[in-house]
Amino acid sequence: MKKINIAIDGPSAAGKSTIADVLSERLGYTHLDTGAMYRAVALNAVRKEIALDDEENIVAMIADMKLEMLSDGSVILEGEDVSEAIRTDEISMAASDVSKLEGCRSALVAMQQKICEAGGYILDGRDIGTVVLKDAPVKIYLVATPEARAERRVKQNLEKGLEADYETILEDIIKRDYQDTHREHSPLTKAEDAIEIDTSYMSIDEVADAVMEIVESCLGEE
Ligand code: C5P
Repeated sequence: MKKINIAIDGPSAAGKSTIADVLSERLGYTHLDTGAMYRAVALNAVRKEIALDDEENIVAMIADMKLEMLSDGSVILEGEDVSEAIRTDEISMAASDVSKLEGCRSALVAMQQKICEAGGYILDGRDIGTVVLKDAPVKIYLVATPEARAERRVKQNLEKGLEADYETILEDIIKRDYQDTHREHSPLTKAEDAIEIDTSYMSIDEVADAVMEIVESCLGEE
């Protein structure tokens, strides 16, 4: 069967990555976590002490940067596995900061489009349905209340042994939502042809089933 590309967008901790993982398993597709790419850029900038608003030097840094996005979800930066190092609260905010820069966005969008050229990819992010995969036959927009998302992040962080203060995480989610929806370049917004699912009161399996139904009906039409 022909392999399509699937776009999943939404605010932080709405369940995009988890759902993309479940779907890729069910469909035999590859999940590309585009947020992890912005995080890797942010981590590299922090390590190299480049200011997060210094567009010229960040764009030059990206051009030199060796970033590998493995199909098992591992993120390799300059040969080092940074899959965990990019998940701290500091790097979450730093990723939101560098993602405001037009030059950073266009470099990463070009990489993402090249990776999924052959089809069979599920991309999750903020601008997938509106910019990266404008023509994707399936576009999903996941939302959930900030409180539901903060609770999930607390649980995930506890499982990973990371900092997990509910109030701090909620504040961070609200701040990142604001920054991601109000930036000048490619702000987070639902594509006109995306299907919105509110995951606040749904289990992972319920969301995955709902998305699978949409994908299957689309594949049936292709
Ligand atoms: O999805 P995740 O929370 O890992 O993304 C980290 C940050 O990267 C987001 O807050 C957002 O600012 C940025 N991002 C983006 N466009 C994407 C994916 C992530 O601007 N496609």
